[in-house]
Amino acid sequence: MSTVAPVQPQGNDGFVQIGQSAEEQIRRRVAEERARLEGEAGIQKREVHHFHKPIELPFTKLQRDHTTILFGGLTWKHERLVHAALESLGYKCESVPVPNKKAFQLGKEYGNNGQCNPTYFTVGNLVQFAQDLEAKGLTKDEICDRYVFFTAGACGPCRFGMYESEYRLALRNAGFDKFRVLLFQQSGGLNQAEAEAGLEMNVDFFLAILNALNMGDIMNDMAYQIRPYEVNAGDTDRALEESMELLHEVMRRRKPWTLHGKSQSLFGKTRFAGTAEYMGKFLHQLFGDDLMAALRQVRQRFAAIPIDRTRVKPIVKITGEFWAQTTEGDGNFNMFKFLEKEGAQVVVEPIGTWICYLMHQVVQKYHDQKGLEDGATPPSSWRVDKRLKIDLRMRKKILQIKMAEAIFKREYNRIIAALGGVGHHLVDQYELQRLGHPYYNSRAAGGEGHLEVAKNIYYSHKGLAHMVLALKPFGCMPSTQSDGAQSAVMSHYKDMIFLPVETSGEGDVNAHSRVQMALGEAKAKTKLELKAALEATGMTLEEVRAYVEEHPEMKSPMYKVPHIEGVVGAAANFVRHVAACMKKTHHKPAQRANATAAA
Ligand code: SF4
Repeated sequence: MSTVAPVQPQGNDGFVQIGQSAEEQIRRRVAEERARLEGEAGIQKREVHHFHKPIELPFTKLQRDHTTILFGGLTWKHERLVHAALESLGYKCESVPVPNKKAFQLGKEYGNNGQCNPTYFTVGNLVQFAQDLEAKGLTKDEICDRYVFFTAGACGPCRFGMYESEYRLALRNAGFDKFRVLLFQQSGGLNQAEAEAGLEMNVDFFLAILNALNMGDIMNDMAYQIRPYEVNAGDTDRALEESMELLHEVMRRRKPWTLHGKSQSLFGKTRFAGTAEYMGKFLHQLFGDDLMAALRQVRQRFAAIPIDRTRVKPIVKITGEFWAQTTEGDGNFNMFKFLEKEGAQVVVEPIGTWICYLMHQVVQKYHDQKGLEDGATPPSSWRVDKRLKIDLRMRKKILQIKMAEAIFKREYNRIIAALGGVGHHLVDQYELQRLGHPYYNSRAAGGEGHLEVAKNIYYSHKGLAHMVLALKPFGCMPSTQSDGAQSAVMSHYKDMIFLPVETSGEGDVNAHSRVQMALGEAKAKTKLELKAALEATGMTLEEVRAYVEEHPEMKSPMYKVPHIEGVVGAAANFVRHVAACMKKTHHKPAQRANATAAA
């Protein structure tokens, strides 16, 4: 064992000085010693190549005609409509396929280690798409020249903040160095410097995307509500495909509203032209009927699907992390299909909840900070003028967001109504905050924040689901935190059936078997509920079915069955409703049959 000689830097006066030269000596000797020890241990020093964000190549207006905008990460219904929305604005676009296990492997291969599961899937999916193009004969340069990828990003606090650099790193490692990634910042809109004018984030863009997402949400929700009860297998999927084609075509042909006719002659050449056009676009959005007319056509198509509400189906509410609860593929073990195959009715989570959550959080932040910018200090108490100014500014901003939220919800509800009222309305964010905050601080941002906990309580406690299934990606920080909080929730709400499942690229069998077990409990709950309904009404299922045969309108998915407080299942609610209807007519079918026979 060797020893290091003590460092004794001397000044001119002979005293020991700890100055720059001493620091240098220490550094040098430490480096020498490290080299000696590494040599002894046989460790070879390798050069470290840190990842540097590449200089972004622009996507310009001139490139639009030969550039395809890629996007993905939602359900095929949302993507079909987003596709139409972008096409209506004059963009070439394409959605990347739903990520599969191969994409996950590629994400691991080309990206960093230690990422959360959605990162691997989505990043690998883009690499896979680019590689497939290459396999079809395009060169890497052609791919980078003809395609850009459009995705959402954020500055954290969870790994979402790393997505952008992960895309770029994986693309670089796969040899697509020049591939362009356009980022829509969750908190600050699109980074226009990166997008240049290739993708214009104007009011037309936002309105078109908003319509696409809202319609996608409700079509998705509606299909999951009807499919488990369809009398003829495949009816719902057929109606869904036809309807999505119709909506895609209507949206694709829908051009952004511009000044025309009278409005053009009135304002066209004045300095108010811009404002008038802006207002016109909003009014067209709020009162235009073209999309609603198409949705009403879709309603007719779905209304014709015969359904049997007497089927005993446990209702499973899906929650969890944004991507894991939305994707319909290997990324969540194909969980929705599995649940339906096992006899459940799935209640999916709309993207609209997430949009409302983001707006809600901004309002909370303004309240918390009393309108002050990040890091700013409040003016002295005697500067009433400044304080008032800040307060007024805050109120104005809050009002703007609240108005945006109100308009958003109005539009959402209009679509639900046009589609026959089958879709679920968006849950109030204050209600979710009230329920979730005691367990998970509502100001703790990242992932779904307090929503996972709050939704569990909301759906279980309000009798809207027999079971809540949280899909949590492997390596997801916010979901891991809320898992801890869920233990406290479950100890307070004893009756709830809550199952968190960690999604990853492997382990489908294990996850499915855990779900099967919890579903067994939920099924037992559903059966008991139906039994109680039959006992309370004194009816048999045969009598209910006979009544439905006499009233075929009850077979339509558009027929409204009131939700009775405390009764979750469709069958139990339906039995009670039929009993109430029969009471109104004062006799049961059997009695009627007897009466007819006697006559
Ligand atoms: S919420 Fe979880 S899974 Fe989603 S990006 Fe953040 S860390 Fe990853």
